[in-house]
Amino acid sequence: MNLSIESIKELFSSKNKVRSDGMVMDKKLANAYNATRQSSLHSSFCFAPSTNMYFSQNGDVKVCCHNTEFTIGTYPKQSIQEIWTSPKAEELRKYMRQYDLAHGCSICEFDMKLGSFEEVRAKHFDEFSRHTKYPVMMEFLLSNTCNLECVMCKGEYSSLIRKNREKLPPLQNPYDRTFVKQLEEFIPHLTEARFSGSGEAFSIDINYEIWDMFIRLNPTCKIMVQTNGTILTERVKNMLHRGNFQIGVSVDSLVKETYEGIRVNANFDKVMENVKWFSDYCKTKNSYFMLALCVIRQNWRELPAFIRYCNELGAAAVLHKVWHPKQFAIDNLPATQLQDIYRYLDSAEIASGTPLERQNKRHYEYFVSVVKSWMEQPTSAVTNNSEVDALAATDLLSYLEASYKTYLDDEYGTEEEKTIALSQFMNKFEQFLALFPDDQTREMVSRHACKVSTGVMAEAFKKYPVEYLFAEAGNLLKA
Ligand code: SF4
Ligand code: SF4
Repeated sequence: MNLSIESIKELFSSKNKVRSDGMVMDKKLANAYNATRQSSLHSSFCFAPSTNMYFSQNGDVKVCCHNTEFTIGTYPKQSIQEIWTSPKAEELRKYMRQYDLAHGCSICEFDMKLGSFEEVRAKHFDEFSRHTKYPVMMEFLLSNTCNLECVMCKGEYSSLIRKNREKLPPLQNPYDRTFVKQLEEFIPHLTEARFSGSGEAFSIDINYEIWDMFIRLNPTCKIMVQTNGTILTERVKNMLHRGNFQIGVSVDSLVKETYEGIRVNANFDKVMENVKWFSDYCKTKNSYFMLALCVIRQNWRELPAFIRYCNELGAAAVLHKVWHPKQFAIDNLPATQLQDIYRYLDSAEIASGTPLERQNKRHYEYFVSVVKSWMEQPTSAVTNNSEVDALAATDLLSYLEASYKTYLDDEYGTEEEKTIALSQFMNKFEQFLALFPDDQTREMVSRHACKVSTGVMAEAFKKYPVEYLFAEAGNLLKA
């Protein structure tokens, strides 16, 4: 069944109610998705909660790296076994059986809305045969220890950013000897383990202990390591030669200046040399090799060249969408700029001769379709926010302040810097408001301001004097 993007969006607007057949997602949409899956899999939208455990730095356990909102348990308050059999884990399994994506699954919901069924992350979990008592996949983000300070990253994932940029004390690490000991029971049942998403995998000591356990207890289990490519010591090479590893390297640019501007502390030439070593290693082992690029304002022009490079090297290309920090993300650019990006990417010639080239091309085209969806729904537009319409005039400034505070929480800086930025923004907004002639106009302006994307307001108020903002208020707040 073919559904247009518009009809898919419409189907999604009937929100989160369990129907008489026990399902939440519209039947037509679920059927369209399921037409791309074997019928034995239709009992659940996603099998992540029945197959996977994702251990995050603070001990919270999730079911996949895309749903960071729903926690099924916390180590060491609960043992690994208790978390796997917890009521919270069962709750999420139930939501998946109901095709209910309202519990932190917005990334999969985004791809469903786009009609990109092949890119829906839940599909990865269709591939696993399930065990009745144990997970078959684990993702380990056990520490934020990292030697880089990439511009789009934050202290939660990089110890150096936490120390140097955020000026915060180190994170407490809950993963101890008991954790490693408890893993012994689980490792023999795993078919895949991932070490990615937080810190630099090759600089985290506990990872080596766990890899040794894999080699001892389950040597054929796939171990996927995502690395920043800066560390390739004898210890790393020795471990890789002994285990069944797959490697992904995060590259972000093939231009030295751009690369080193994004991946702060890394040396481009050294990393490119290491990329070659990792690629040769994967060829020798006949294992999966991947290069990843976080698409941001600094590097989007490089995407066609990046795909070509991946094809030459025999690497699967992975293009990551980046939402934060907002000053580097592309989804929040004005529609005209998104149109330019879309036209540029859409007109590039991408090879499709070999199976790998076709796979990379499909992924590239998916990314281009994502840019198109951003272009058609630019976040800079004024939102029709009924919540704001319902606010009393006296509550508008508090609402604006709270929105700006949430916006700042996703940005760089120490708590002190954020407090100063918030107070500067609010002072300037009040000066701007004072230029309007009466209370009624001021209320109207404040209400509009609450509806405009906070990113747009923040940039404008940072850049321009209040008089200019007043003169341009019609454009800034246009409905
Ligand atoms: S539906 Fe998507 S986001 Fe939700 S658990 Fe499955 S893979 Fe993760
Ligand atoms: S290498 Fe990864 S964890 Fe380290 S700073 Fe860069 S993006 Fe963050």
